[in-house]
Amino acid sequence: MVSNFKCYPLSEAKRVLVDLGYDAYRGEQIFKWIWQRNVRSFSAMTNISKDLRDRLSGIYTIDGLHPVRVSREADSTHKYLFELEDGRYVESVYIRESRRRTVCVSCQVGCPLGCKFCVTALMGFERSLLAYEIADQVRSVQEAVGEKCTNVVFMGMGEPFLNIDEIFKTLDIMSYSGGLAISRRHTTISTAGLIQGMESLLRSPYRVKLAISLNFADEEKRKEFMPVALGNPLRELLRVAKAYSVRKEMVTFEYVMLRGINDGLNDAKQLRRLVSGIPAKINLIPFNEHPMLKYKRPTERRLNAFYNCLLESKHTVVIRKSRGQEIHAGCGQLAGSLSLK
Ligand code: SAH
Repeated sequence: MVSNFKCYPLSEAKRVLVDLGYDAYRGEQIFKWIWQRNVRSFSAMTNISKDLRDRLSGIYTIDGLHPVRVSREADSTHKYLFELEDGRYVESVYIRESRRRTVCVSCQVGCPLGCKFCVTALMGFERSLLAYEIADQVRSVQEAVGEKCTNVVFMGMGEPFLNIDEIFKTLDIMSYSGGLAISRRHTTISTAGLIQGMESLLRSPYRVKLAISLNFADEEKRKEFMPVALGNPLRELLRVAKAYSVRKEMVTFEYVMLRGINDGLNDAKQLRRLVSGIPAKINLIPFNEHPMLKYKRPTERRLNAFYNCLLESKHTVVIRKSRGQEIHAGCGQLAGSLSLK
């Protein structure tokens, strides 16, 4: 039984109101009060009759997430720790960069994929988040910083394609102009490479950006560090990536660089060959070190040599400056409840 009205995307909110005997547009009014006007109770919804407000208050809450801890690095990067209704924790990151305001959201508590270089994996997997728990991270961060966010990236804790139904609902809540109003073109889903999920997104009406955490150009190494690669072969992965770039939006390949493991010139050449013929951007992410992991980031010299080698391909190549490392808010450093220890 749903008890938080925030669970409903617009279409369901309308249906619920119709089921209660009201006009569908009442559902839309309530949806707007929640997501656009950010009210905390039904009683604040002044264009709704008192009868209906009382009735809804008897059935539903509209409780939201509140940060239990905020860590800040300079002015530009904040990490928020949220306690969920069941006492579990997730983290989100806010990044301010010129005119862009990005929230990096989590979609699961922990992650079951077990990538060896990712701190979230050390937590194990607890559960997937519901759509409103994901969308509410954005609402709550906006409330905390007092400004509207322009971009959302699903690059926090968890694997979006293991929670795809709730991700689609989240997109409905976020992109509606009377909701959080975040354009789909400014929304990026990042996957460790689940082919089935990528295909579902490709077939869906959602035209969002897709980032693929490739990380290794060598299939065997990929399997060793990313167990998800065992059931998701590179050839298939690249086929769907190409289709996505051609039919929807150009994909981004992310490549976490680990010193002495995948940062050599041979790795760069192999990567170049692998992605040739696929319209894509390449993001190099120097590994974010963490006390709980033994890996190191590449030296500047190796990083630059790798980058220069890739420039010979036709792709746009970017070295991602990971922000928020001091506060462990960089890629792969989110650990929810482990952060409390
Ligand atoms: N499961 C999804 C969403 C998480 S995004 C995915 O894998 O894409 C997290 C991104 O950070 C991924 O690109 C991942 O490869 C990268 N990453 C993980 N651990 C990292 C680390 N310690 N340093 C830098 N990047 C890391």
